[in-house]
Formats: sequence, structure tokens, C-alpha cells
Amino acid sequence: MVKETAYYDLLGVKPSASAEELKKAYRKLALKYHPDKNPDKDSAEKFKNISQAYEVLSDEKKRHIYDEGGEQALKEGGGGEGHFSSPMDIFEMFFGGGGGGRRRKENKGKDVIHQLGVTLEDLYKGSTRKLALQKNVICDKCSGKGGKEGAVIRCTTCKGSGTQVILNQLGAGMYQQIHTSCRDCGGQGEKINPKDMCKTCQGKKIVQERKILEVHIDKGMEDGQKIFFYGEGDQSPGLEPGDIIIILEEKEHSVFRRKDMDLLMKMEINLNEALTGFRRTIKTLDDRILVISSHPGEFIKPNDIKCVLNEGMPMYKNPFEKGRLIITFSVKFPQNGDIELKKITELEKILPAKQKADAPADAEEHNLVDLDPAYERSKRQDEYMDEDGGMPRGGQRVQCANQ
Ligand SMILES: [Zn+2]
Ligand SMILES: [Zn+2]
Repeated sequence: MVKETAYYDLLGVKPSASAEELKKAYRKLALKYHPDKNPDKDSAEKFKNISQAYEVLSDEKKRHIYDEGGEQALKEGGGGEGHFSSPMDIFEMFFGGGGGGRRRKENKGKDVIHQLGVTLEDLYKGSTRKLALQKNVICDKCSGKGGKEGAVIRCTTCKGSGTQVILNQLGAGMYQQIHTSCRDCGGQGEKINPKDMCKTCQGKKIVQERKILEVHIDKGMEDGQKIFFYGEGDQSPGLEPGDIIIILEEKEHSVFRRKDMDLLMKMEINLNEALTGFRRTIKTLDDRILVISSHPGEFIKPNDIKCVLNEGMPMYKNPFEKGRLIITFSVKFPQNGDIELKKITELEKILPAKQKADAPADAEEHNLVDLDPAYERSKRQDEYMDEDGGMPRGGQRVQCANQ
């Protein structure tokens, strides 16, 4: 039992969630509420909250403190447990870098992160997807200068800093200093004479460009895997361009569920098939038809698990190696009345002998009835009432829902 569930609720997971489930939940929400995609205030707040929740829950020690004593315990606990990193840092740590050992540099432009929904078929067979996206590139016309040579001058209002300090009078002799982006230069620290301004980029030095990326999804890739396009991110004057990072998001499949390299599926067979053998087909993710059958004389019980070797997911970078296809069986019993009584007598002769009831002659005979949960509830209420002088407990009431 955990004390509070607020952080779990924020991420939409149960308190029993595994590290993997937490990661997945954070990834989904962080991309959804990222300020780049949602500049509104509510999303920013949400982005901050899910980041905090993830920061705590992804750290085993902090998660333990939270589970035991809730948010209050985190605040009180020394060692900085109550201190949160900036949501952006968490996001960067989670999504950025990590591939190819390239360190994040100070003078590097922003990475562009993109989520790409893929089917299990894509991940099984491999596929190539074209992705169109907008990115900032340095204006060709002015080579990122924003205007003609010498047209750019330092903003006199902010002296090139891009920020202005405004004094706000709060009361008698009390002032509040507010730092804001310079209104004259829009925070750029410089101005361009309108008549010398580059017409292509309107002095912004960068232009938006539509870029088509070819994303190669290799066999065996998995949900959450990142595909890097180094140096293809946003360009900005004076900065090394950032990367484009594609994050794969596996869509749910109607038949198979993936677990590492294995594929899991459920199959319902009927009692006849369970007892006398079955032959069924399964359509694979690459559209082949597999025929599976049980051995003669082999009975399949409910929840029996069988597997087909080498029909699972291919291994990433070694696709000839494949996992297993794991099938969990359920057995559909015939409905009452499906089999004639006469035939049931025959069944009785074939199936293993019944157990004989060894009862004394005066034992009571009872017929079983179906359990009715609603009846159980009303009975408990009755018993409660009996305590103040109702019918004696265990009274001879007929209590059969079916009669
Ligand atoms: Zn300025
Ligand atoms: Zn330009």
C-alpha cells in the first residue's frame, strides 16, 4: 500500500507500475504536453507536474520515500529529495543524446523530437517511412545575417543584452524589478534597418523549411527506440545544428502482444478440440499462415501455455534470430443442453471413472444452485437485522435463487 497516489495518477499508472511502464507513461505524456507543441499555460503546468512525478518515481530511493510518506515526506527528507530539476532537464535527459555517444554541447541548437507510430508489422518486417516536418534553417539569401552587410546594429534600448529591467512600484518606496525581453528588438539585442532587411527571412536570419525524412525502421526495433538524424535539427546562427530524434511508438495489435523477443497471443478452443485434438491456423505478422496442432492423445487444459519456436519477433540487428510465439489457451465448454442426455451417458463411459460419494444413509441431500452475489449481499443484511430479535440464525428459510 502506498500513502498517496497523486504522482502515479499524473502519469496514469498503477502504484505497482514497473520502471518500464513508468518510462512509457512519461514518454507519452511528455511528448504530448511539451511546450514546443503546446504553448498554453495549462500544458506548461501539466508538463511540469508530470516531470516532477517522473523524477520522483523513476528514482528508486525517492519512490520509496514517496510511497511511504507521500509528498510531505519528500519535502521533509533531507538530501535534496524535495528539490525538483527543471522539467526541460528531465526531458532532455530522457529523450536527448544517448545515441552514438555524442555529448550535448553548449553551443548546439535545439533537438527536434518526433514521435512516430508504428505497427507491430512494421517492427517485424522492417519498413521505411517518410516523415514530413518543419525545421528552421539558416537563411540562404543573407547567410544568416538578417540583412545587408553592416545593416545589423546593436539595439540601443537594451545595449545588446536583449533584456530590459522594468521597475514596478509596489508601494511607498518599494519597487519590484522585472526582467523582460527587450521590446524594441524583441530580445535579439540588435536591430536591422527595415530598408536593409533581408526580404527572404524578414531579418529573422532563419527560415522554415519543409523537410522529408526517410526513416528506416529495422526489423526487431522496439517501442521507445530512438532513431537519430545527427545535425538535422533546427539551425540557428552561431550554433551547431541540433539533431532530429525519432521515437518509435508501437501501436497495439489486435492479436499479438510483444514481450521482448516473444509474441504472446490467446487462443480459444472448444472442449472437443481440447480433448480430441485440434488443428488451427495463425496468420503471422508477415502474412504467412502457420498451422498448429496438438499431438494425438494430448489434452489441452484451460490456461495451458504452448509455444512455437522461432515465430516470435526478430532480434534487432540479427533478424534471423527470432523469439517464440507463446499461446495461452482457453477452453470453451459446451452450453447446457448442447449435448443430448443419452450421449452424455456415453461420455460417462469414456471419461475417467467418477468418484463415489461415501455418505451415511441419513446424510442430507442438496442440489447446487448458481451463486448470486446480489443475494449474498441481501443475506448479510438480513443477518444484521436478526441480531435484534428477528428470526433465529440459520432459520429454515428456503434460500435458493433458482427455485
Ligand atoms: Zn533591445
Ligand atoms: Zn535572410
